[in-house]
Amino acid sequence: MTARIIDGKARAEALRKEIAAATRQLAQAHGLVPGLAVVLVGENPASQVYVHSKAKMTVEAGMHSVEHRLPETTSEAELLTLVGQLNADPAIHGILVQLPLPKQIDGQKVLNALDPAKDVDGFHPMNAGRLATGLPALVPCTPLGCVILAKSVHASLEGMEAVVIGRSNIVGKPLVQLLLAENATVTVAHSRTKNLAEVCRRGDLVFAAVGRAQFVRGDWIKPGATVIDVGINRIPKDDGKSRIVGDVAYDEAAGVAGAITPVPGGVGPMTIACLLLNTVRAACAIAGVPLPAMGIRPG
Ligand code: NDP
Repeated sequence: MTARIIDGKARAEALRKEIAAATRQLAQAHGLVPGLAVVLVGENPASQVYVHSKAKMTVEAGMHSVEHRLPETTSEAELLTLVGQLNADPAIHGILVQLPLPKQIDGQKVLNALDPAKDVDGFHPMNAGRLATGLPALVPCTPLGCVILAKSVHASLEGMEAVVIGRSNIVGKPLVQLLLAENATVTVAHSRTKNLAEVCRRGDLVFAAVGRAQFVRGDWIKPGATVIDVGINRIPKDDGKSRIVGDVAYDEAAGVAGAITPVPGGVGPMTIACLLLNTVRAACAIAGVPLPAMGIRPG
């Protein structure tokens, strides 16, 4: 079997177009321009790339984009002051504090200080709790993108066996909640799971969020399963340069799976598109106006 490749790049582009149309509609009907503030502390090169593309795509979607680049030496108090200002700024509907933060700053304290209504990353305990209890919430972008991609293969996930490998607060745990909300039967695996390959083979849907290059092997995959690879790992190439691979051994898994996301070009592009989606949602909720109709409305 050769798996169908799930084109996350194309899917994300389609979603961003829908968001741009929704943004135009909000401006015309309500004079509402969703605003996203991205805060970057320090010089982490990967974070700088992410922040740049987030800002670019925010503007392309017709939204107001603000970037705050703070030095590596920024104190926790300084960052909390900025968060307080952004919480109070009526032109800002979404605030994203790019992780990781430098050592002197307690990241959880900063996340806790965000106005939950503007928490477009969905990491505030209020949003995590709302998601877990089935209340409307701002949902973390990467898991949201994973579910949209799975639903591009299966119109309904109801009753499907889903295996999630990884239980981080950023990916694994919120993904479990989203899959439960879709009525999938969910197994969560982690570093203490026994017989991981066997557990993985149960999955009609396999979500790999482990952070280990090419960790999930082809013979762990049930024939015909849908594989969503969240991993972003840099590995050396023969020419001394490096390349990005996922948490799944792609070539092996693609020979067994029914559908699979590539890395790059799978989950990654969906994450930013979902950030824009969350910003529009947050803006509508704060302004008390209905979210314009969009084709893609998971969760
Ligand atoms: P974390 O390191 O926070 O979590 C990794 C999870 O994998 C943990 O729950 C850990 O288990 C589990 N794990 C580690 N080793 C094993 C093992 N040998 N067997 C089974 N489970 C294991 O990572 P994140 O969730 O933040 O990220 C996961 C991956 O997704 C990374 O590659 C990251 O780069 C990528 N990522 C991609 C994004 C995107 O936009 N595409 C966004 C965010 C992340 P335990 O809890 O027991 O320690």
